[in-house]
Amino acid sequence: MNPRFWQSSLFYLLLLVGLFLLVSTFLPRAKAPEEVLLYPTFIEQAKNREIDTIKQGENRLTGLKDGKARIKADFFGSTNDLISLLKDAGIIVGEGGIKVEVKSDGFNWGGIFLNFLPLILFGALLFFLFRSARGANTQAFKFGQSRARLVSGSKPTVTFADVAGVDEAKQELQEVVEFLKSPQRFQALGARVPRGVLLVGPPGSGKTLLAKAIAGEAGVPFFSISGSEFVEMFVGVGAARVRDLFEQAKRTAPCIIFVDEIDAVGRHRGAGLGGGHDEREQTLNQILVEMDGFDTSTNVIVLSATNRPDILDPALLRPGRFDRHIIIDQPDINGRKAILQVHAKGKPMAKDVDPEIIAKQTPGFSGADLANLINEAAILAARRNRKDIGMGELEDAIDRVIAGPEKKSRLISPREKEIIAYHEAGHALVAKILPQADPVHKISIVARGMMGGWTRFLPTEDRHLWTRSQFEDRLAVSLAGRIAEEITFNEITTGAQNDLEQATRLARKMVTEYGMSDNLGPRTFGKREELVFLGREITEQRNYSEKVAEKIDTEVQNLIQTAYNTAKKLLAQNKARLDLVAQRLITKETLEEAELDALFKEPLLSPQLEATPAS
Ligand code: ADP
Ligand code: ZN
Repeated sequence: MNPRFWQSSLFYLLLLVGLFLLVSTFLPRAKAPEEVLLYPTFIEQAKNREIDTIKQGENRLTGLKDGKARIKADFFGSTNDLISLLKDAGIIVGEGGIKVEVKSDGFNWGGIFLNFLPLILFGALLFFLFRSARGANTQAFKFGQSRARLVSGSKPTVTFADVAGVDEAKQELQEVVEFLKSPQRFQALGARVPRGVLLVGPPGSGKTLLAKAIAGEAGVPFFSISGSEFVEMFVGVGAARVRDLFEQAKRTAPCIIFVDEIDAVGRHRGAGLGGGHDEREQTLNQILVEMDGFDTSTNVIVLSATNRPDILDPALLRPGRFDRHIIIDQPDINGRKAILQVHAKGKPMAKDVDPEIIAKQTPGFSGADLANLINEAAILAARRNRKDIGMGELEDAIDRVIAGPEKKSRLISPREKEIIAYHEAGHALVAKILPQADPVHKISIVARGMMGGWTRFLPTEDRHLWTRSQFEDRLAVSLAGRIAEEITFNEITTGAQNDLEQATRLARKMVTEYGMSDNLGPRTFGKREELVFLGREITEQRNYSEKVAEKIDTEVQNLIQTAYNTAKKLLAQNKARLDLVAQRLITKETLEEAELDALFKEPLLSPQLEATPAS
């Protein structure tokens, strides 16, 4: 309900009550019809021990027997008066006689309050009127202060043991822990210590947990703030908060500052149309200023997390700022098993629970999903009045987690898993055979963002120059995923969309930007401009004829078709090896470079004509 409604209702209610009380003070008060005895009767009853206790209230005595009120009488004296009166009547007071209890000390606060109630209400009314008259103003003033002290360093008890399936990241972060623990050791050698570490990974992959674990391992305070909190209406609030935060952190150094969702403030500056990002910019600048202000003796390490490293401002990523990037992938089958084990610890698990089986059934689950899964299973077990969490609860919980509205799209059926495995194996196989293609570093069918699976290449050297044959091999590798699906299942899927887009863009660039087409010759086509105010979009202005446009299209088409034929031939010749890699991928989900190499050397059960690498 609208708060204004309540406010005005309260106003009228107060007005009514106030009026009523005002009127009632001028009216003669009617006495409640109550049996009030005369004082002598009271004494009489006390004498006969019909009562054993007397309570003296305001102008009133109450006689009780066994805790029950028996009689009442008016009395206008003090307690001393009462006691002497009783004694005069020959009644023993105290031990063995009548007990006298005094209810109030004669000063009736309640009565006074009641007398002043109309006045108080009137005051409240005035206050309300006054406040609503300048309501909007006061709120604006409170805004800046409200969350000024929103951080306080806490010492987390989480350690690396609580974070599973991210061993590589843990290894890299070990160094940060050591620095926080004994900074002198590093400073003595003049080592430049990391100031900023960027944790990159999808939501729920444990970035926050990892940051806390670093603080926990090193035993230092942990300050945390989220980038989205900075995006406020008033310019300057975010920057002030950053200043406060770093100020506090420096006072408690060594410590960790964790900035979650840094992409909320750290987008490319100047991106996007219109205003509204002044605040972000100021906040970002303040972060940079603070980090630049660290000297070698500042033992504060800033960790930040994002799932969009691509949109970060390059200024954030420069040396001395967030120059270390640690990638946290969605866990693979072994990672999921380890995470499940971490979260199962301390919970009563039934004997038949096998984390490996659960891990197998949960492709695409993040660490947070798995934590949630165990929790759901525990709830189910409790509802079924079980003493422990069984396999049945866990499997039902998987369905529950998957069927949750957002995660539906992440459910990967066995059939889908197979297709994705063949697709990625196709990429890897062609990359392996073609001499100019980048070596395959890792291949995985663990879903990641929009992609069902992925193949990561590792360029052998930092390249500034690309040759035409490198591009041609790259085109073939891009298309290989789709071809593998095609020759295995006789069917094509939507999974290759991104590959096709990349291949087309590359082929077009070869023709229009790098002059790599024999038919069109060494020249560029189109005038490109970076339109800063439209974000970082690049638009192409046409500066060639319709006829040339047609030729460009044909050339692009040719490049792609040639690459397609190459890849298809290679995959057809090596179908048995493709099967081998794909099948291994289905069971293991992630294959590292070494495992892949071993697979390529493994003899095939039904030897086929194997393609020799083109020289
Ligand atoms: P992020 O910051 O990457 O979005 P969080 O660190 O907030 O993710 O993870 C949320 C929760 O998921 C954690 O508190 C933890 O219970 C669980 N979790 C995520 N990743 C892991 C992991 N690798 N090992 C153990 N638990 C994890
Ligand atoms: Zn692909």
